[in-house]
Amino acid sequence: MGKTIIISNRLPVKVKENNGNYELSASEGGLATGLGTIYKQDGNIWIGWPGVTVDEPAHQEQIANKLHDLSLVPVYLTQEEYNEYYEGFSNTVLWPVFHYYASTYTTYKPSNWDYYRSVNHKFRDVVLEHAQPGDTIWIHDYQLLLLPALIRQQLPDVTIGFFLHIPFPSQEMFRLIPWRMELLKGMLGADLVGFHTFDDVRHFLSSVSRIMPMQVSSNTITCDERIVVAEAYPMGIDEQKYASLTQEPEVQHQAEQIKLVFKDVNLILSIDRLDYSKGILHRLQAFELLLKENPEYVGKVALYMVVVPSRDQVPQYMELHNQIDKKVGNINAMYRTMDWTPIHYYYRSVPIETLSALYSTADVALVTPMRDGMNLVCKEYVASRTNNDGVLILSEMAGASRELIDALIVNPNNVIQVRDAIIQAVNMPLQEQQTRMKQLRHAVSKFNISHWVNLFMSGLSETKFLQRAMQ
Ligand code: UDP
Repeated sequence: MGKTIIISNRLPVKVKENNGNYELSASEGGLATGLGTIYKQDGNIWIGWPGVTVDEPAHQEQIANKLHDLSLVPVYLTQEEYNEYYEGFSNTVLWPVFHYYASTYTTYKPSNWDYYRSVNHKFRDVVLEHAQPGDTIWIHDYQLLLLPALIRQQLPDVTIGFFLHIPFPSQEMFRLIPWRMELLKGMLGADLVGFHTFDDVRHFLSSVSRIMPMQVSSNTITCDERIVVAEAYPMGIDEQKYASLTQEPEVQHQAEQIKLVFKDVNLILSIDRLDYSKGILHRLQAFELLLKENPEYVGKVALYMVVVPSRDQVPQYMELHNQIDKKVGNINAMYRTMDWTPIHYYYRSVPIETLSALYSTADVALVTPMRDGMNLVCKEYVASRTNNDGVLILSEMAGASRELIDALIVNPNNVIQVRDAIIQAVNMPLQEQQTRMKQLRHAVSKFNISHWVNLFMSGLSETKFLQRAMQ
């Protein structure tokens, strides 16, 4: 049996520089944990960008040697490549179009595309240095859509899986991209193409059948006499980690402090990366509407809002940051009292212990993205509710809403509905909270991250089996 190679834009590692000395520490993300069972096995590797731009060959070698001990292999990017391939094509074309923000947030710069192609080739070259016939290759996410076909052309006898972590848009959106056909061809180099939801699968299949066009039957595509399967694999989290975090002394200490500060109010939690797809402004509007039209809640609820800085060199993100600051300022100025502040706003990331303390103490989690591939924050909240209480309000536009059906499901554009859901949540009897939360916890624990990894890997083997049977 061959080895397994994981490939993603970023390696699961943080690299710190200190006077030409590089120190590495493993990153704790859910994906890294889930895939840890694979790439840490003997002979397997993970290929990706280490997160720093290093041009000096001696420094590159130093980092590569340290990564080698962790079964990681670097692909080095120049600053220009990072700007054009990552900030450029990935984040100003693919991200907005795939999240249905095509008109306002997208610029189709040909140079961005050229770099996207050349960086995908760069990844291919590193993969080819390590891959052999018979290997299994699992490629992740929208930065590497061309890679499956680039590898397949050079090394046909490998098994390739691809997973998209963001939504796949309707073909009416997707076809706006000038290079739509090349992107689909790239993805179709895989044997199995995975998405978070069935809607994503459906959108992908309709793009393939209309744009390529290729024959699609059920969830299989006939591509150059090869079968490609598209399937939904909703990603889970490491739910035990979040449950056991709540038992740690530091988390419990912080949780006590939060309870003390917010002892007389219903605490509503909002946590996102700064991104237009997260619906932060709409959420603030709904909260403002509550205070305006339902004054009995003034002094009785508080919104604890963490916005994690992200892509803040990009003008649209700077603008969004300013708008959020302004909106929060207006609401607080309008409604605060001597001893009560409506919104506790933090524009920074928080340590995992604080995150866990917030998850375990907030009465309500308000997760209302305009569009989200999956959304892990809502699952982490559920996993942290070891007492089975608390209420999750969840946007129907988050992939997670397909599984977490016992949440209060809302349309994030409907601020009246979101306001009403907040009212329902803060008044929900404990028994109903527990009934719903138990169901939610069941879903989150059953379909956890290792289940997701196993399901995708067995889907890949089954696809190979199907291909052989149809030859
Ligand atoms: N998160 C974090 N630092 C923070 C707040 C949140 O690392 O200060 C994490 C959170 O635990 C979650 C992730 O960021 O795992 C956000 O994932 P999600 O799928 O909800 O959204 P994304 O940012 O990937 O679009």
